[in-house]
Amino acid sequence: MLVDLHTHSTFSDGRYTPTQLVEMAARAGIGVLALTDHDSVNGMEEAQQAAQTVPNAPQVVAGVELGAQAGENSVHILGYNIDIHNEKLLSKIEEMRHAREHRLHRMLAKIGALGYHITVEDCDPKNRAVGRPHVAKALVAAGYFESVDEAFEVLLRRGKPGYEPQPKLSPEEAVELLHGAGGIAVLAHPAELENLPLVEMLLKNIPFDGIEVYHPSADEKLQQHFAQLAQKYNLLTSGGSDFHGVEGRFPEQLGVFKVESSKVDIIKTMIK
Ligand code: AMP
Ligand code: ZN
Ligand code: FE
Ligand code: FE
Repeated sequence: MLVDLHTHSTFSDGRYTPTQLVEMAARAGIGVLALTDHDSVNGMEEAQQAAQTVPNAPQVVAGVELGAQAGENSVHILGYNIDIHNEKLLSKIEEMRHAREHRLHRMLAKIGALGYHITVEDCDPKNRAVGRPHVAKALVAAGYFESVDEAFEVLLRRGKPGYEPQPKLSPEEAVELLHGAGGIAVLAHPAELENLPLVEMLLKNIPFDGIEVYHPSADEKLQQHFAQLAQKYNLLTSGGSDFHGVEGRFPEQLGVFKVESSKVDIIKTMIK
């Protein structure tokens, strides 16, 4: 069975609604789909409803991707099987989305001073965890850049003139929140940290339950390395495509990056 345990919808920076994701997953023959929007579980109800009505729908797992910060490094943490009504989790991610809106204003002022003029509305922040991807998309739509990637490279990456940090949780806090909501916590796309000693330090010191071994950012050699770390630290292996449906960002379709359920032992905690 194919699974995809890392996807984004219109409730964060994905292009498609939760219903569309479920439909696409059904067409791609995906059996288990986790919706893991950034700092939001607001798409979950729609996804779970679609799972009831769409023919051949996958089982939908309640997930979230929390943005955390370890020093200079942005650490993403996936939560699964979470209680989406847990008050502590809900109020914290709401607070984070709110901080994102404030940051959007700061970011727009900053790039406006540099001659790039887009509005809050251009970034379509309503009911989303709004972030740099939305700003990048608006900049492309306004004709300032050819691609989202270019907007990041020139303006939005850390160290570039439009960069504005987003207040983030510590990894410890994020894992605690997920555990408090009855969920399991997985270190997302460790290859994106580009710092193997840091990966190991995080796994050693923070009570993660799993590690995302299979992700487009990890080549086969890194996957092997992460699978070994999973063994060493007694962690569940996980995997997903990190599908956003955004042009120029791999994968462009759901089901292109394939994860076999037999490779990800986290699936045992999900199958009903
Ligand atoms: P933020 O949380 O607003 O700081 O934005 C970070 C998000 O931007 C990441 O989670 C990625 O989804 C996205 N991102 C980072 N770099 C790029 C890029 N070069 N092109 C498109 N999206 C990116
Ligand atoms: Zn994203
Ligand atoms: Fe991420
Ligand atoms: Fe993601």
